[in-house]
Amino acid sequence: MNIKKTNELLDFHGQTVLVTGASMGIGYGIARRFAEAGADIVLADISPLGEQKAQELAQTFGVKTLFVKTDVSSENDVISLFEQVAKEFGKLDALINNAGIFPMKPVLEMDLALWEKIQAINLRGTFLCCREAGKLMVKTKKGNIINIASVDALHPSSVGLAAYDASKHGVWGLTKNLALELAPHKIRVNAIAPGGIRTEGVETMSAGATKAAANPEAPAEAPMDVPWGRMGEPDEMATTALFLASDMASYVTGSIIVADGGMLLK
Ligand code: NAP
Repeated sequence: MNIKKTNELLDFHGQTVLVTGASMGIGYGIARRFAEAGADIVLADISPLGEQKAQELAQTFGVKTLFVKTDVSSENDVISLFEQVAKEFGKLDALINNAGIFPMKPVLEMDLALWEKIQAINLRGTFLCCREAGKLMVKTKKGNIINIASVDALHPSSVGLAAYDASKHGVWGLTKNLALELAPHKIRVNAIAPGGIRTEGVETMSAGATKAAANPEAPAEAPMDVPWGRMGEPDEMATTALFLASDMASYVTGSIIVADGGMLLK
């Protein structure tokens, strides 16, 4: 086996990495970190804010970037996204399925439309992107898929998140079975289970604010009993994703990394 140097293991120059939900929050943190490691980045998001973020990443890190406005729950949008990736970059080395929503609503108050929306974005969207990425990656017999699940894929964190928990348990189940299916093609499939991470989405949820007014620069108070004593930062999920997508994790597939400051220990 060819033993690479550590700095070579974390060098992503020449790789193409696609991040969904990349306009803000964890997704943008992941896109930024992979760009800093030299990868060309495709940012896919329903929010148009990603267009400017893509330009900033290209300027700052000298990599090629592309923003594609995408609703991951739409099969047409996802197919068109991967057609653009194939046309612009010719291959895909890593997909990070991060787009997701987490509205809080007790089951007894939930209408069917909200249930379906949560499953459509969090689970169907992950499936659609996995399927299209897999088709591209089998051609090169190489690739990495990382699904951003949640601690809620393993254990409930709060009342009101039953639909979310169902979707994230689904994401974890999909991850394991797809890892089996794609192992013969040398494509690794793993998941990350973040705990409470300070993002625009979480700021909005806790403050009842709009995302435009949310302030992820606010002090990192722990909203719940986190042994590490603070919330996580998007970049801490990004470095975990970088590890999983790198050859540092060359024998890791079908796994979930819990990155939660010890929250699940309680
Ligand atoms: P966020 O700050 O709300 O950012 C999510 C991004 O995804 C936004 O740009 C959002 O656009 C976009 N998005 C929403 N629906 C989409 C769709 N249908 N298609 C494409 N993009 C869509 O969220 P986050 O806190 O970074 O969370 C990212 C992921 O991590 C989610 O899967 C979440 O479940 C998971 N996670 C987060 C935490 C946490 O504490 N933050 C913990 C565990 C797991 P709009 O703003 O226009 O909706």
